[in-house]
Amino acid sequence: MPSTTQLQSQNYQELRSEALASSEQINHRPLTIPPLLGASKAELTEWVQQQQQPAYRGQQLHQWIYQKGARTLSEISVFPKQWRATVAEVPVGRSTLHYRAEAPDGTVKFLLRLADNQIVETVGIPTEKRLTVCVSSQVGCPMACDFCATGKSGFTRNLERHEIVDQVLTVQEDFQQRVSNIVFMGMGEPLLNLEQVLAAVRSLNQDVGIGQRLITISTVGIPGRIRRLAQSQLQVTLAVSLHASNQALRTKLIPSACQYPLENLLQECREYVEVTGRRVTFEYILLAGVNDLPAHALELAQHLRGFQTHVNLIPYNPISEVDYQRPDSHRIKAFMDVLKQRHIAASVRRSRGLEQDAACGQLRASRGAEVS
Ligand code: SF4
Repeated sequence: MPSTTQLQSQNYQELRSEALASSEQINHRPLTIPPLLGASKAELTEWVQQQQQPAYRGQQLHQWIYQKGARTLSEISVFPKQWRATVAEVPVGRSTLHYRAEAPDGTVKFLLRLADNQIVETVGIPTEKRLTVCVSSQVGCPMACDFCATGKSGFTRNLERHEIVDQVLTVQEDFQQRVSNIVFMGMGEPLLNLEQVLAAVRSLNQDVGIGQRLITISTVGIPGRIRRLAQSQLQVTLAVSLHASNQALRTKLIPSACQYPLENLLQECREYVEVTGRRVTFEYILLAGVNDLPAHALELAQHLRGFQTHVNLIPYNPISEVDYQRPDSHRIKAFMDVLKQRHIAASVRRSRGLEQDAACGQLRASRGAEVS
């Protein structure tokens, strides 16, 4: 009889193939427009010219969808009335707001309804100097991490570039403030949808105006994909979710890790540093009594010896689906002290909006009954 881990792994294999297949399908389809969002100025110009309009309408269209927040072409008042009527139904690619929740610390979580009625989660996180958006890259996630609400809800499909860019514009409009940072840490595994994620990063950088270095792509690791990300020559920040200090523990927490030994993952990270000259950040969720002992910290420090890195320790936000718990502050400090003694730069990530189902995918899960 197969063990639970084997079953999880088998399930992960099927879902992962589905995500990759849908990613390849999108990849091999030329990035034609519409939906218009996510298209560059040059693409928009080409499109308006195909519609027998002068080239400068491309510049106007670009300004209206990225800066003025136009959701339909009929509201672009600088376009001739007659042409507006002709293209009124052309989709810009904006979502509609399904649900909004604001935490006392100012964090705002959004559930956005896509054109096919799927729902994705996006979070706006304000601090004194920044407005960070945590974006989703997939509807659901096939990785099935044991501690994650999104992982428990299964995988539906990859997001397209306009659906990723839309999340950032939605937060920007809601806060009436420019977004400064983006983290791909919402629903989904970005490297399983790499081409669309890269297309969205290009647009967020060139069309929305967010610096590449202020965009973080987070992954639990897909064999060969960190290498492909390095080849893209972008200056984005890579965050790798380790969450365990050895292969056996990692496989329990992240079923996909059975396909990707920790040593191989770390080797790909080293290559990433060599190729890009950028450092890699490691993420480590602290689960009480599971991976938070000083011995785990010591093991982690040994793996990361010689790495130019920073470790983000994330005390777990409990969810109802599993009984993992958040460690107390003494254990968190003890873990961090071991890393610091071993000269590994580390910090504890402060939880934002804990009251509003803060863990990845939790908001969508808790509002699932409302999603039709
Ligand atoms: S933690 Fe990330 S990769 Fe793992 S299941 Fe959740 S969304 Fe997917």
